[in-house]
Amino acid sequence: MPYKKVWGRRLLTREVAQLPKEILNQVTYQRITGIVKQSKQIICQRCGQITQQQEAKLNEEEYYCPHCLFLGRNDTTQELWLFDQPALFPRQIIFTWDKTLTIEQAKIAQRLTTQVTDHHLIWAVTGAGKTEILYPLLQLFLAAGKRVAIASPRVDVCQELWLRFTTVFPEEKIVLLHGKQQVPYTFSSFVICTTHQLYRFYHAFDLLVVDEIDAFPYVRDKGLQYATETAKKLDGQLIYLTATPDERLLKEIRRKFQIHYLPLRFHQRLLPEPQLIFWNNWRQCLNKRKKMNPLIKKIQKLVKDNHVLVFCPSIELMNELQIKLAEWLPTTTITSVSSKDKKRQEKVQAMRHQKYDVLLTTMILERGVTFENISVLVLGAEHEVFTKSALVQIAGRADRKGEFSNSQVCFYYHEKTRAIKKAVKEIKMMNKAGKLLQ
Ligand SMILES: [Zn+2]
Repeated sequence: MPYKKVWGRRLLTREVAQLPKEILNQVTYQRITGIVKQSKQIICQRCGQITQQQEAKLNEEEYYCPHCLFLGRNDTTQELWLFDQPALFPRQIIFTWDKTLTIEQAKIAQRLTTQVTDHHLIWAVTGAGKTEILYPLLQLFLAAGKRVAIASPRVDVCQELWLRFTTVFPEEKIVLLHGKQQVPYTFSSFVICTTHQLYRFYHAFDLLVVDEIDAFPYVRDKGLQYATETAKKLDGQLIYLTATPDERLLKEIRRKFQIHYLPLRFHQRLLPEPQLIFWNNWRQCLNKRKKMNPLIKKIQKLVKDNHVLVFCPSIELMNELQIKLAEWLPTTTITSVSSKDKKRQEKVQAMRHQKYDVLLTTMILERGVTFENISVLVLGAEHEVFTKSALVQIAGRADRKGEFSNSQVCFYYHEKTRAIKKAVKEIKMMNKAGKLLQ
């Protein structure tokens, strides 16, 4: 059924031209200009961003939007085609989950399903099980014949979410969409996608959930926030999920969104608080066995109880460290994984099966992955890639699952940055609130 390729979509003339012609006789749609010209500015109808005309010139007469160029150029030669989608019928939903929500999760789930506000933010600590809170709401929406989507800025997170939801909703056809996906789009009442894909939907979702709103690039990207608001239906419900909200975003949304806190983890234990370890000029020590003793001794101690994740600020440094550690710790199994690693999926999977004692990594494992029996080390925590949000997420990789195994979190730093201080403060604050619920 070719018309299923366009229901609820927001496409450029160029994209529509690639579809079979008969589709346009089978569906209803409206067409709007892609770019609106206004005195010295242009407004993009796809991402909502305003650009000065002189920065958006294609030639003497035509203009384009530089903000959403990566989606295929939207310019004054294009129209945006906004396709309607049919109403769906109520149906029976098969839901298979062998666990139950904690009392605190259930309370939030209950509030989401009964309250009239249509903008919610769930602020739940890492490992609290914020995804599970959505289960009752998703069942309700799907059973009523409504359309739902879960979006995340990170492809890895989308993949993890897809695996989890296809397991608990085994009969649902859940479409997974991201930039690296080669399968063409087709209509489905359950969509999991990267936030960038939301630019291609228009008034499509009755329920839209954006996971990890503090992750790059969603945070501070007005275009993505515009895409989110317009991808959902006008009366649709929007839910933001985060473990560590960006302060500015929190300020902006405070009036519109109802905020739900979940400060205690699924297993009811508090978050491991990071040990801050000052290491003067650690970078100069990498080649010297003796000077690396603080790290080597720590790893030897930690691997007795747990597997160890070592976060490095760059791939280059990670590779250098891996060679040295392999030499200095010959009986320890060590590997590394980064965004440039072709075997990254396999390695992450092997780590899940506890195949390595030590896994060196960069920011790719900052969020969205759960390993059992893990301690976490951050080398060079002062580096700019380690924002407050990243550090809270990284610390949150420890002690997520299973029995308590003496998981530890250590930040090695040369300089105590604002991000380090704020991350520790936020973790302590959530633990204070969590203690009251224990
Ligand atoms: Zn644009």
